[in-house]
Amino acid sequence: MRAKVLLIMTGGTISMVQDPQTGSLRPASLDTFKHFVPEFSQAPFGVELLAFNPMIDSSDVHPSDWVKMAQTIEQHYDEYDGFVILHGTDTMSYSASALSFMLEDLTKPVIFTGSQLPIGVLRSDARENLQSAIEIAAVKNENGQPMVPEVSIYFEDRLFRANRTTKRNAEHFSAFNSYNYPPLAKVGVHITYQPSFIHYPAADATLKVHTQMDGRVAVLKLFPGITEPVVKAILNTPDLRGVVLETYGAGNAPSCEWLYESLAQAIKAGIIIVNKTQCNTGSVQMGLYDVSRNLLKAGVLSGYDITTEALLTKMMCLLGEYPNDTPKVVELLQQPLCGELTKN
Ligand code: ASP
Repeated sequence: MRAKVLLIMTGGTISMVQDPQTGSLRPASLDTFKHFVPEFSQAPFGVELLAFNPMIDSSDVHPSDWVKMAQTIEQHYDEYDGFVILHGTDTMSYSASALSFMLEDLTKPVIFTGSQLPIGVLRSDARENLQSAIEIAAVKNENGQPMVPEVSIYFEDRLFRANRTTKRNAEHFSAFNSYNYPPLAKVGVHITYQPSFIHYPAADATLKVHTQMDGRVAVLKLFPGITEPVVKAILNTPDLRGVVLETYGAGNAPSCEWLYESLAQAIKAGIIIVNKTQCNTGSVQMGLYDVSRNLLKAGVLSGYDITTEALLTKMMCLLGEYPNDTPKVVELLQQPLCGELTKN
């Protein structure tokens, strides 16, 4: 039977055209978009389109949009073999990471893609990204199972696990990278899948969709000379539940007393703080240096080699799922739920 893919358009450069009056990019109509991709009608699999109204620049994305994306997939889950989400590149790693936690026990591909140039312009990377993403979403292995039943990002010539990605380039077509996990597939003349890096669900896995997101989180990025009032202003934010603490190197922080005391106090007050290195590659190793041993004593958790995008969205999802069970959130933050971290 012909595989069927649902293309969900949320916005982003890929689905924009230039306004002849202002010169700015704005979302294209569905018909204009279809006009630029005539191959849809000739593809060996069925592609159906669903467009969000309004379509947005992804800088405007909000957790409520992630809920809408997750619910759209849930609603159409049985009708399609795979899903492709067209999304702006600016926050694609956040949205795709969020969906990886919201769609538990996923058994079908959900592939995010976009482009650096709008679909209608010469040299645009949109068509290749779109066509490869759709093909990967439709393809099955020799057992008839989807080849990549994960939330992933396809860009330029790589398919990455979504919750391992970061937007790394505002200029090159190769906009994303997965620094701590190898690609799930590479695309050239042929598509080469890497099954040993792909997560395959248990035979009895059934999709569970989590849509309670708690946005009471913050990112605290350390820098040389950061002052006590700045740190306190963030940690004393009313109702704050979780903090991504961006540290140096292997998870190190300045050794000033006020910093550790502020962090320890916040943790005692019930705020969960997780250590995430500012380095793209490598992992937090708490206790390796004296300057991180103090973080450990204050009760800061290790984020291991997770990305900020994945950590932040994982926190939102877990805090929403277990609003009154901080120990459970702490326990799950320390474990890989869908391949987002590797413990060292
Ligand atoms: N600002 C655009 C967006 O994220 C950029 C892009 O799509 O590449 O929606």
